[in-house]
Amino acid sequence: MTGPAAAAAPVLDVRNLHTSFRRGRSVIKIVRGVSFRVGRSASVGLVGESGSGKSLTALSVMGLIEKPGFIADGQILLNGRDLVGMPAAELSKIQGRELAMVFQEPAAALNPLYHVGAQVAEAIRAHQDVSQAAALERARELFELVGIAHAGHVLRQYPHQLSGGMCQRVTIATALANEPGLLILDEPTTALDTTIQAQILDVVGELRTRLETAIVFVSHDISVVAEMCDELVVMYGGQVMESGRMDLVIGSPQHPYTQGLIASALSVSGGSGRLESIPGEVPDPQAMPPGCPFAPRCAHAMPQCATAPPHAALPDGRTVACWLY
Ligand code: SF4
Repeated sequence: MTGPAAAAAPVLDVRNLHTSFRRGRSVIKIVRGVSFRVGRSASVGLVGESGSGKSLTALSVMGLIEKPGFIADGQILLNGRDLVGMPAAELSKIQGRELAMVFQEPAAALNPLYHVGAQVAEAIRAHQDVSQAAALERARELFELVGIAHAGHVLRQYPHQLSGGMCQRVTIATALANEPGLLILDEPTTALDTTIQAQILDVVGELRTRLETAIVFVSHDISVVAEMCDELVVMYGGQVMESGRMDLVIGSPQHPYTQGLIASALSVSGGSGRLESIPGEVPDPQAMPPGCPFAPRCAHAMPQCATAPPHAALPDGRTVACWLY
């Protein structure tokens, strides 16, 4: 990322990340050379249409890529330590402790067989040597922190007894259980109705201010990310198209794809994440065009675009991967 905080001492420094999947004898490249940084207490939005590689980037950072997926190349530096290739036992000490993730489907992230309070307590005790009673008390405090009313009562409820919005508050509380320095939220409100979405976004915004946790917010919806984050990484075809300070990117998008995303945010009413203003489809990772992945949909495409554009550094600190710059 380009902000001064990120430049000084990033919590997360993703360098040239490549994540692929094996299918038979083929290797399908999904994330193709992604780099970005997240500074302490910073909030970075990863945005792009479905299929852009943003969620796989987040899962790669969390160490949750499973076979037949694999990280083919690159580094994921968390507080200076590379998570790529780290032994599983060492990685599991970091997951949930130094970085945590909130997923799109809150109910799927919770175990239906246990009280939600017990699940948060278990997350605490996985990393901290405290009694069950102390962990439950901490769980109650976390529930209050994320705005759950009657927290003591909710501790003893099962996931199916809670609404989707309430379950998502519980998963956020679980993610915060060990006060991680980095919280990744992958489409945390997409499965919720509009009113609950707004409440959850408020909770995340308040927590960010209060806890000074660095945040990576993954979404197809650039308007949500614009509200939540200070910096933006726009992804397409498994690559970063444009990155930089949110106000600069939103105020004057330079990459044709970013321009299309912003135009579509003004025109999309259903929140499906499909572009309304640019014809064409996200490229199939197995048939990625040579050069710029956006070329088949780009109104400015030229013969030069058959070669991959470099990441141009603009004077305002942004980077743009486009031959126009
Ligand atoms: Fe369009 Fe070419 Fe820029 Fe890609 S590199 S966005 S095709 S102008």
